[in-house]
Amino acid sequence: MYSVSSASITETGKVREINEDAVLETGSLFAVADGMGGHQAGEVASTLALSAIGQYVEDNLGAIPGEKLVEKAVSGANAVVHQKAVSSARFRDMGTTVTVLYREGDTAYIGHVGDSRAYLLRNGDLRQLTDDHSLVAKLVQEGEITPREARSHPQRNVILKALGLESQLEADVVSVKIQPGDVFLLATDGLTSLVGDDVISRVLAAFPGPVDAAGRLVELALEAGGIDNVSVVIVSFAESPTVVPVGGATGGSNGGDNRGDKGGGPRASRGKAARIWLILLVVLLVLALAGFGVGLYFFNHTYFVGVKGGKVTLFKGFPFWDMAMVETQTDIEIRFLPDSLRTRVEENLVTESRRNAEKTIESLALEVEKNSSIVPDVEGKAYDEATEMLLEAGLHPVAELVSRPGFEPDVVSTQDPAPGARVGKGSDVMLK
Ligand code: CA
Repeated sequence: MYSVSSASITETGKVREINEDAVLETGSLFAVADGMGGHQAGEVASTLALSAIGQYVEDNLGAIPGEKLVEKAVSGANAVVHQKAVSSARFRDMGTTVTVLYREGDTAYIGHVGDSRAYLLRNGDLRQLTDDHSLVAKLVQEGEITPREARSHPQRNVILKALGLESQLEADVVSVKIQPGDVFLLATDGLTSLVGDDVISRVLAAFPGPVDAAGRLVELALEAGGIDNVSVVIVSFAESPTVVPVGGATGGSNGGDNRGDKGGGPRASRGKAARIWLILLVVLLVLALAGFGVGLYFFNHTYFVGVKGGKVTLFKGFPFWDMAMVETQTDIEIRFLPDSLRTRVEENLVTESRRNAEKTIESLALEVEKNSSIVPDVEGKAYDEATEMLLEAGLHPVAELVSRPGFEPDVVSTQDPAPGARVGKGSDVMLK
């Protein structure tokens, strides 16, 4: 992954009254457009094209692979502009160039129609990535004129292909594997017809920051006469784990002086920041809800055996922070459990399931039975018989012999604890 820094400027120039250029600068999508057509229709064409491209890319991000995405975005924008052009006499024959760079992972996809250009500065070498769809480019290709002659050719503005002129359009799309240190430049002919490639190359190499480089290039075009609208977008890639998400489309074709402006500008940056925060917030909310859901699941599926009111109790929930509900309170008194087992129950025995908790309770009941006795009813029985019954129950008879009028000799008159009570093994039972 690479960190992306970028800058864009669109400038009316010194001669034209209005700016028919437009620029687009977001985290992953960048473009310039040079509109043409009378009565400000060129301005409409370039702005409309870039907003259609921005919208298409945003809507289909991740759904369509990079090359196809750019191809479809440009051909879709062509349909939008053409539709507008045939809708009214005011917009008849309007069109626009478009040069777009879309970054996906470590690949830059360049889509292109017309005579705006994309350049790549890599290791100090400037390479033009696009072919001009212009008459002079064709003449150069055919060896009729030299590149230098092309720049001052009287028909240098004649372009052979533009977005919006026909109902169907196929854009050139090339892809470039990005390397750290790569600097891409998108520019309209307001720059390239006035500033030579050698100068562009030197400026891009000399100004590492896209803002300064863009400002210097536009300055040079103005110093060379500024006879046309001039627009530049510079995109620099440095090696970094930082990922900048795609932001909204920003078309900058206003007629004012945009020099030094970063195109998308602070508003776009704020929009990006707001979007990142919103995404973070949504992620946190989803995590919180997921956490709550997981918590609730475990709450509903966690059982433990503890103590309530001195009795063994089955709880549902977590054995801490009072986050548990009583499922069943048994009659099993923990005081009859052996010391080690009683301590464990007092500290809560967490079980894997409700069934296991019930099994634990069953075994605790057996332990209690082993360690305690139900006091037999010995009242009215002879002392010998009563003593035998108590010993058999594991209890210790303590006889207090009383002999006075009205009491039958050798017969138990009262007992303590009362019959039916459960007491620990070996407990004393007072007999009178
Ligand atoms: Ca132009």
